[in-house]
Amino acid sequence: MSRMILLLVTLSFGSPAFAKECVQGQSDNWWQGEAAIMGTLIQVELRHTDGAAACSAIAAVMAEMRRIDSVMSPYRKDSVLSHLNQAGAYRATFVGLELFELIEESLKFSELTKGAFDVTYASVGQHYDYRGGAKPDAEQIETLSSAINYKHLVLNKTMRTVRFLNPGVAVDLGGIAKGYAVDQGIRILQEHGVTQAMVGAGGDSRILGDRDGEPWVVGIRDPRDEAGTVAMLPLMDVSVSTSGDYERYFEEDGVRYHHIIDPTTGDSARAVRSVTILGDRATVTDALSTSVFVLGVHAGLDLVNQMQGVDAVIIDGEGRMHFSQSLLELAAN
Ligand code: AMP
Ligand code: MG
Repeated sequence: MSRMILLLVTLSFGSPAFAKECVQGQSDNWWQGEAAIMGTLIQVELRHTDGAAACSAIAAVMAEMRRIDSVMSPYRKDSVLSHLNQAGAYRATFVGLELFELIEESLKFSELTKGAFDVTYASVGQHYDYRGGAKPDAEQIETLSSAINYKHLVLNKTMRTVRFLNPGVAVDLGGIAKGYAVDQGIRILQEHGVTQAMVGAGGDSRILGDRDGEPWVVGIRDPRDEAGTVAMLPLMDVSVSTSGDYERYFEEDGVRYHHIIDPTTGDSARAVRSVTILGDRATVTDALSTSVFVLGVHAGLDLVNQMQGVDAVIIDGEGRMHFSQSLLELAAN
């Protein structure tokens, strides 16, 4: 595996407090922007010979992120998703084509992962407050967990409506929407004629082309050391998503309660510490990083190894690294 651990460059370039939506990068013809949107740091970096055109492309990506947030945020009371959560138990609720299709794609991942990925996790998940250190008690989990089941969602493709069969259902797209937003960001940059770029939203990024003839290098952080990096991946034309138990969590009596929920228990999934997925679309890598985190090392690698064009790096509960078959083959050559 030593061949994979190469350079020391990361994709982060600053804290949200100093967010700037368009500045010149460190090398010629590179431009970068960042903004706090969707509860995370959005980063865009691209190559363009015309600075004004570069900044207008970055602005278009940021506008798209804000638009997606206004549709899919579970925190904004006026979002289309919040409307669904309020009305879905009472009637088939119109959600529009975009949200309908993302919920439809989420259900495909639920089928593929035998329920490990389930956007109705929020039926219990919404009662955790990671900042405030609060969690539902055992009785609440017992009562609410029957509402976690993607089969409670009834989709009508013609009408673009969603209805909940169980009154306790709540939907949250936190495991897939950032990846979707990154894909939309890349699509917009391509429409602006950009051929070399990176769009990132927290743990989800997509890379277009190379970086002045070199691959981009993405670091996988050490789940137990904020400043540490356990592997560096040289990448081109790929999406990469990492799910970790260090992103949003609190500890109580030595137990870590974090934001990825095992739908079978309503409790945090604890088999692994982080999962990084590589693949074509960020929508897919985002959903799969969350899925494999819940599935754990064996079932997770089984799933990834049977998929075309998808790879995984998993750090298990003891800090050991595991790689999908084609990464192992790549490292051996
Ligand atoms: P990520 O960082 O991409 O793994 O996404 C984690 C987010 O996915 C959480 O903050 C939740 O919004 C959502 N989530 C948590 N557990 C699940 C699950 N079992 N299935 C689908 N989404 C989930
Ligand atoms: Mg994910």
